[in-house]
Amino acid sequence: MSPQSRAPLAVVGLLNIPPAALEHRFVMEALAVAHSRESEDLERVIGTDNTGCCELYGWAPHVAPHADGFGFVYLVCLNDGKTSISVRDTCGEIQEVFAPVGTVIRLDDRLEHWTSDTVARVAAFAGHFPEPCDEAAIAQLKAGIAALAEGAYTGAPRVRDGFRVLLDDECWSAATLDDELETTLLRDATAAGRWIEICSHCRKPAVRPDPKWPYSMALSRCMKHLAGR
Ligand SMILES: [Zn+2]
Repeated sequence: MSPQSRAPLAVVGLLNIPPAALEHRFVMEALAVAHSRESEDLERVIGTDNTGCCELYGWAPHVAPHADGFGFVYLVCLNDGKTSISVRDTCGEIQEVFAPVGTVIRLDDRLEHWTSDTVARVAAFAGHFPEPCDEAAIAQLKAGIAALAEGAYTGAPRVRDGFRVLLDDECWSAATLDDELETTLLRDATAAGRWIEICSHCRKPAVRPDPKWPYSMALSRCMKHLAGR
């Protein structure tokens, strides 16, 4: 392995981002969420679940210096914009890379890092890995971007649960009460005979399931009742 192979910040690939990927509903959702974090006193980065599959995430411009403490993560920006990502390495020196669309960046998120951006960015994400794992990570990113470009719902990368905004054609459903709830298209869940979690007030599909599901369903709410109307 080359001496650069464990670099805490490196450009490790270049992927084609088909325009159709940007039109995917999950990318629109991620962009909206990233924009919504610009003016509020919120964490500017959309969090990730580090599932081992491609996820979507993003950030409002100018993420302040912070460390996450997981390991090596990979990201590739999907939307146009100018971003520089900086890391303070173990010698205290600052390293910087730029993140135009399609450039795959590897970052050791245990080190302090920050961004400077012209716009909110949405990125495909893979991680974390205890050691650099460029090939596997790039394969995950490619598969995720391909699913977005195909317009797939099932299997396409998405922002993590707490950042999702469900539309009217979606619901939280599970194969059985022993399985986990997932966001699904309502028509697919109905066709497959899945459990569809409903609002305890009005029986419409819940956009926010009870946090103690399946042991409690009393706090499951549709959008209207979540808003207290
Ligand atoms: Zn309701």
